[in-house]
Amino acid sequence: MSNQWDAGRLDSDLQDAGFDTLAVRAGQRRGPEAEHGEALYLTSSYVFRSAADAAACFAGEAEGNVYSRYMNPTVRTFEQRMAALEGAEQAVATASGMSAILATVMSLCSAGDHVLVSRSVFGATVTLFEKYVKRFGVQVDYVTLADIAGWKAACKPNTRLLFVESPSNPLAELVDIAELAGVAREQGALLAVDNCFCTPALQKPLALGADIVIHSATKYIDGQGRCLGGVVCGRREQMQELVGFLRTAGPTLSPFNAWVFLKGLETLRLRMQAHCVSAQALAEWLEQQPEVERVYYAGLPSHPQHALAARQMRAFGAVVGFELAGGREAAWRFIDATRLLSITANLGDAKSTITHPATTTHGRLSIEAREAAGIREGLLRLAVGLEELDDLQTDLQRGFAVLRAD
Ligand SMILES: *Cc1c(COP(=O)(O)O)cnc(C)c1O
Repeated sequence: MSNQWDAGRLDSDLQDAGFDTLAVRAGQRRGPEAEHGEALYLTSSYVFRSAADAAACFAGEAEGNVYSRYMNPTVRTFEQRMAALEGAEQAVATASGMSAILATVMSLCSAGDHVLVSRSVFGATVTLFEKYVKRFGVQVDYVTLADIAGWKAACKPNTRLLFVESPSNPLAELVDIAELAGVAREQGALLAVDNCFCTPALQKPLALGADIVIHSATKYIDGQGRCLGGVVCGRREQMQELVGFLRTAGPTLSPFNAWVFLKGLETLRLRMQAHCVSAQALAEWLEQQPEVERVYYAGLPSHPQHALAARQMRAFGAVVGFELAGGREAAWRFIDATRLLSITANLGDAKSTITHPATTTHGRLSIEAREAAGIREGLLRLAVGLEELDDLQTDLQRGFAVLRAD
């Protein structure tokens, strides 16, 4: 057969392919029906040719599908495509972003190990480490994201894992991933980066020296707010540990969600580029508004780590934080004056969203902890979607108009 018919041929043809080509084609294996689109294998189990074949597959002596908690062809296509995009030896898909983090810790850490976590990670990630991981005898300490000397100082002989998000949410702080990878290496620990805000279209932590990349695929990988999912990418040695955990414990990705994510990946770079162009324009515009005290966006020359961001990321992402003079009252009135923006804490959607972090995503922190984290009452977070830039600006203008009516 010619051209792309044969699965083996298809994969070998992609060896030197660029990002967009991998995003559209990597991992696909054509079935006997010669389908052009990726097949959705909505099946929980598989049949065997004979009793002996079943025994061999169960024993791992023969190649063959067993059960969808173990493997699923649609999920496998998604995993192979993600591995190709992140430049990883292997990727392992999970039921959500949180189960990707859980699977990483459960697979790679044991009681008595020490884990270092950035202070500015996703809220549920803090709860996972604080309330659950600690319960199983893993020690957890927190470090300020950008403070390389602080990471070094916090390392102990039993430190096994360093965990960060860069840039942080919603204040867009960064860590120099290559430098932090050096700290982890010296320590004999693994560096895991939650790359959800960037996706491999903007940042490739493995190429910078990180060991593990984690995603909530729920966000930009889906890109249209439909499905929950997650994925972990890294070296085969560690990923095989995750495979074992997921097969046993079960927070695996649904094949339907994997199929939706495959469609999302096809347009990933184009979408991220459009998100970033609008976010940059809005960040620059917001910085000029008299009611705005400060804008948090790594694409602005005023951002203290702008040079690092330009080195480490291809573009600066779609999440813009901005602080209004006038505290909570001004922030709430601003939000309530908008008509187009969705009032929700989600992000990574074609629809733009606006959030008041102090009373939502960071609402469970004490006032002191919130102040220490820099989440003030006047802070708003804009997750820029794919609507027309002019319409987004018009909507934000409604917020400013209400404040100016005073
Ligand atoms: C949303 C999010 C998660 C959790 O992902 P779910 O898919 O909602 O479980 C983890 N990390 C970051 C940075 C996120 O934004």
